[in-house]
Amino acid sequence: MKVSVVGTGYVGLVTGACLADKGHHVVCIDIDTEKVKKINKGIPPIFENGLESLLRKTVSKNLFATTNLREPIVDSEITLITVGTPFDGEEIDLTHIREVSRQIGIALKNKPDYHGVVVKSTVVPGTTDEVVLPILEEISGKKVGRDLGVGMNPEFLTEGQAVSDFMNPDRIVLGADAERTMQLLRELYYGFENVPRLETNCKTAEMIKYASNAMLATQISFANEIANLCSTLGGIDVVDVMKGVHLSYYLSPIAKDGTRIKAPIASFLEAGCGFGGSCLPKDVKALIAHGEKAGARLPVLTAVIETNQRQHEQVIRLLRKHFVSLRDVRVTILGLSFKPDTDDMRESPAIAIIKELLSHGAIIKAFDPVAHNEARRFFPVDQLALCATLEDALMDADAVVLVTRWKEFEAVPDILKESNPQAVFVDGRRMLGKNKFKLYEGIGL
Ligand code: NAD
Repeated sequence: MKVSVVGTGYVGLVTGACLADKGHHVVCIDIDTEKVKKINKGIPPIFENGLESLLRKTVSKNLFATTNLREPIVDSEITLITVGTPFDGEEIDLTHIREVSRQIGIALKNKPDYHGVVVKSTVVPGTTDEVVLPILEEISGKKVGRDLGVGMNPEFLTEGQAVSDFMNPDRIVLGADAERTMQLLRELYYGFENVPRLETNCKTAEMIKYASNAMLATQISFANEIANLCSTLGGIDVVDVMKGVHLSYYLSPIAKDGTRIKAPIASFLEAGCGFGGSCLPKDVKALIAHGEKAGARLPVLTAVIETNQRQHEQVIRLLRKHFVSLRDVRVTILGLSFKPDTDDMRESPAIAIIKELLSHGAIIKAFDPVAHNEARRFFPVDQLALCATLEDALMDADAVVLVTRWKEFEAVPDILKESNPQAVFVDGRRMLGKNKFKLYEGIGL
């Protein structure tokens, strides 16, 4: 199948590369010339496990990137829209979606064949039918149902394991305006026959994505609220509390051989310094705003965001137990990306923590296995020193704050014991054993 993908970020590039690996002919379109150049050389512009080898296999064979939108759209049977949908502070920002819909409309003006336009970006319920569809019809002069069809195919990949998530999805949700468009979507996902599939309308598909992300965010803020209560009450460690909670049959069902299986959702029910990333915070906020606009309040999700926005303060509180003032205190931040195995720092709790520490006059250095380039987009050299090794980062620190659960940080107790045992260690993820440090503080302890 000939496929065009508009927007070559985390979702667009992974989708394009994986669909090419499945045998489709894919053209990835982006306005960012640097990204396009890199992709055509087989160099991934983002860090994502397995992406480089996928590009090596497909680029110049059946995967191409370009800044030219018209030709690949006219030449393809289906176009996927994968541009960003940020939250503008008040509601979802559909600027890119609108612009791309207009561009696709122009490209389709003179196309004689039926064409499917599928939104893969996360958009609030109603966007495909009420925003994308009218723009396409108006600009192209074509009629939906006769000349073109619209679809909605939410993406559930997790950054850091995006390629493997796309190739082995837990579900495929397909929304379409008509059977003809659904048929195009089925063809697109030929090769994923054994994956549970849900076929529905576009608005429901859009809602499924939001409900899924809102559910995950709710688990995290719930665990953090319990953690903060444990800290306040004293004499309770939230790690033990959550171990007990996880032992419920709901979270650890019994397998046929009698062993207990830990449901992956349990990993969201753990104390930490908050959730970040390009999806959960903005999607929950957009859903709340969208609900309010429609006259429906969402008090549970509003509280989920409130708890999350304050969670980084727990780290500052723990540091303040050891330093009357944080002025000139040398603090090392371990982990800058919002989660391990990605360099994505969008809305990472590390940003809020560093900003708060800077406002208190702390001197900050950091180490992250892959996110140093990204870090420079957020903090200049005079605000944040980046260390080449974990050892450098731990040396001479008055305090160390673990923000991201990178596997590399399992070595921290041994390194710190050798080089800097007096440092206060604040475990923002409750990742390392509290008995392994001389001065340990943890969220929910
Ligand atoms: P991103 O910011 O990494 O990529 C978006 C790309 O679109 C950029 O490369 C940008 O240059 C390009 N773009 C913007 N305007 C364009 C235009 N007019 N023409 C062509 N290209 C244009 O975004 P992302 O993280 O890939 O997210 C894309 C969508 O997918 C969002 O709606 C997001 O919520 C959703 N999503 C993201 C993830 C994730 O983990 N990142 C997971 C599931 C869903």
